[in-house]
Amino acid sequence: MHQRRRRVAAVAVLAGAAVAVWGIGSMLGGSAGKPTTTGFAARLTKIGGTGPGSLLAARSRAEEQAVSRTLAQTPYIVKGGGESKKVALTFDDGPSEFTPQFLEILKREGVPATFFTVGGMYSTFAANATSAQSSGYSIANHTWSHPRMPGLSLGDQASQIDRTTEQIKGLGLPSPRLYRPPYGAFDSNSTGLTSKRGMLLVLWDVDTLDWERPGADAIVYNALSGARNGSIILMHDGGGDRSQTLAALPRIIKGLKQKGFEMVTVEQLLVEDPPRPGETPPAPSQA
Ligand code: ZN
Repeated sequence: MHQRRRRVAAVAVLAGAAVAVWGIGSMLGGSAGKPTTTGFAARLTKIGGTGPGSLLAARSRAEEQAVSRTLAQTPYIVKGGGESKKVALTFDDGPSEFTPQFLEILKREGVPATFFTVGGMYSTFAANATSAQSSGYSIANHTWSHPRMPGLSLGDQASQIDRTTEQIKGLGLPSPRLYRPPYGAFDSNSTGLTSKRGMLLVLWDVDTLDWERPGADAIVYNALSGARNGSIILMHDGGGDRSQTLAALPRIIKGLKQKGFEMVTVEQLLVEDPPRPGETPPAPSQA
């Protein structure tokens, strides 16, 4: 009897701790100048481990619901609601030979990120994507071969999205709920396909222009001068030589922290700073 009561008490303490972590997670968001030494996912993993019954999985359910709630309002977003000091770093065109170095920096800084991956790259670099997911980062869909989607038939667009989803699922990773079209280019076929699949089309409001390789200083400047509450920041971990982006990343993270921003995944942004109800975001320039 005594043993049993102790066990009940222990479970209650653990549940209390979990609630406390959730509370702290939301309280920390937006406190200016507070260093983000551990990401939300990292804190949950430490307490509950990983796997289907873990707190990380519980967090994912909250994210699933947030994606669905957003999809009920709009098929695509360019940023969060802007109500709190959170931004999402996003990396496109991987997995690549540079991905592990990006992960190393992000892990060292305790910063989560979202990776929009190209299905065709998995044949060479699958391990780099699974490594990102096992760190609690988000793996999203960025087509199979990076075409300009509005030029494709409905069937070809569907194949670009579905092949990549199958590739990601085939590695044991969660089916992606987020999709980003190459070049930010999409049409009504694209949004029809993604909405039908329960996927949210994710654009960005801050373009670092890192793909132009303008030098690390310019990439840092573009990221920091453009960041606002709820910003989604575009960078690339694949598609070419990413050494300038790698050089810029630690300075971008430091600068964002100094400005009081907490970095979150896009899914977390939807949970913690959702787009405002009824607001359909403007499409970005397609230049
Ligand atoms: Zn791309």
